[in-house]
Amino acid sequence: MRYAILSDVHGNGDALRAVFADMEWVSTDRGVRIDQIWCLGDVVGYGPEPSECVQRIRARTDICISGNHDWAAIGKLDLQDFSGTAAESAEWTREHLRPDERVYLKSLPQVTRVGDFTLAHGSPMNPIWEYLISPSLAAPNFAAFDTLYCVVGHTHLPTIFLQPASERVVAAAVASPVTRAQQQLAMSLPGGPSWDMMENAVRDAGDRADWATCERLMPEAGVWVLPKGYRAIINPGSVGQPRDGDARASYLIYDSKLSGFEFRRVPYDIPATQRKIRQLGLSSQLATRLAKGL
Ligand code: ZN
Repeated sequence: MRYAILSDVHGNGDALRAVFADMEWVSTDRGVRIDQIWCLGDVVGYGPEPSECVQRIRARTDICISGNHDWAAIGKLDLQDFSGTAAESAEWTREHLRPDERVYLKSLPQVTRVGDFTLAHGSPMNPIWEYLISPSLAAPNFAAFDTLYCVVGHTHLPTIFLQPASERVVAAAVASPVTRAQQQLAMSLPGGPSWDMMENAVRDAGDRADWATCERLMPEAGVWVLPKGYRAIINPGSVGQPRDGDARASYLIYDSKLSGFEFRRVPYDIPATQRKIRQLGLSSQLATRLAKGL
């Protein structure tokens, strides 16, 4: 199976159309059929075509979860939590969504699990708000999902965080320490562990959790394969507002046969989007940042 995974469209219809066209190209010219499309939230906010983006995402994706900007657009978040430009554009977006588009955004879950994947907008620990911008922030999040992969968006930065799979057991033990009653019950069972064994296991887990860390990779174009014995939190970057200095739209294609993630960048008509932003009276800062990818 192949899954196209995209995030943070942010009402940028030109970028979204280009990404869907790229998926068509991959399917037809390269003969790599894409079986499903998943979206990790923030369909709207900042960009000039929120309605069109909601309609296309609703029509084309198999799974979509909600992001903080989607919540802001349907009144589920207080706009005081947003910066000036974000609040302004959220208010504008609210006024430009049709009732059925609002209903769709309201229907989206915060977290979903499918096969080897957990999907969350920000992080598995705090799906709507947490920005996974460093290994130290990502490390404890590995205890909050039990699949091989977790895919997130929100930072708009294509990123891979890696942790040895053995540390999940450690993290789970620390997150939910074995109680004395459970230990006694375990010891009373025929063949159950000894008291010392249980104590040592819990102490050991605690010690090892101190150095339970993770590694960060900044993916380049091409296919990345998960090393054996590891789990990963992966961010496909942003379709509609990349912030890694590369202005092209970003998304990825996962191939389950290869366990490989192909990070793709797609050029789109940035001046056309900038014109729409200016014509609609949205902040011109939103237009200029698109050309810089920041
Ligand atoms: Zn976003």
